[in-house]
Amino acid sequence: MSRIDIIAFDADDTLWHNETLYSQAKTQFQQLLSPYGEPERIRRRLDALEEANIRFYGYGLKSFALSMVEAAIEVTEGRVAGSEMQQIIEITKRMLSAEVEQLENAEAALAALSGEYPLMLITKGDSFEQHGKIERSGLAKYFQYIEIVIDKTAHSYRTLLSKYNLEPEGMLMVGNSLRSDVLPVLEIGGQAVYIPYASTWAHEHVDEAALQGLNYHVLESLGLLPALIEQLSHSND
Ligand SMILES: [Mg+2]
Repeated sequence: MSRIDIIAFDADDTLWHNETLYSQAKTQFQQLLSPYGEPERIRRRLDALEEANIRFYGYGLKSFALSMVEAAIEVTEGRVAGSEMQQIIEITKRMLSAEVEQLENAEAALAALSGEYPLMLITKGDSFEQHGKIERSGLAKYFQYIEIVIDKTAHSYRTLLSKYNLEPEGMLMVGNSLRSDVLPVLEIGGQAVYIPYASTWAHEHVDEAALQGLNYHVLESLGLLPALIEQLSHSND
């Protein structure tokens, strides 16, 4: 184990709830369009378009909204009503202004660690939307660096670290996604702590095989993080 120079955190579903908002929205969307087809089929079409549209619009709510619009047109074969479109827009606006609900222990862990280490927030998606959530979360004050990236890849992590003259070996990344928060960080030589969230967006799933032989920590809750860091810092002495 190498030293820890900086602790970086993912935001969505690591520090605050996010996936639950999307699940609720998808259920509302299915209900809205249920006169036009079988709810399961509507859900599958929306999920597929959400995934396919990342390459056009990137991550985030506006991308999701356009996927709902596209799915609505498809599953109704163009018969979707203006009033139904209006409801899709309302679902989106409710999500955009929803209260940012911290995960249990998030603030306590950040408060404990920010006295000892510089903390960095690294989240991917739409800049306007993520800035709003960071602001509303009340957690911005714990971070020395806040970075919103288009995607989380080995390349984007390397670019970020070099911007601040930080070495990958000194970075410990904490997050709920193996695909975005763990694998690319291990690839560049950093350390990672995986804290699974109750549900994971299908896009973030990874093959078990990709994890074979990799060395990262798994915690049940952010509340256990300060003790793990303490343990790691002693093993580095
Ligand atoms: Mg996340």
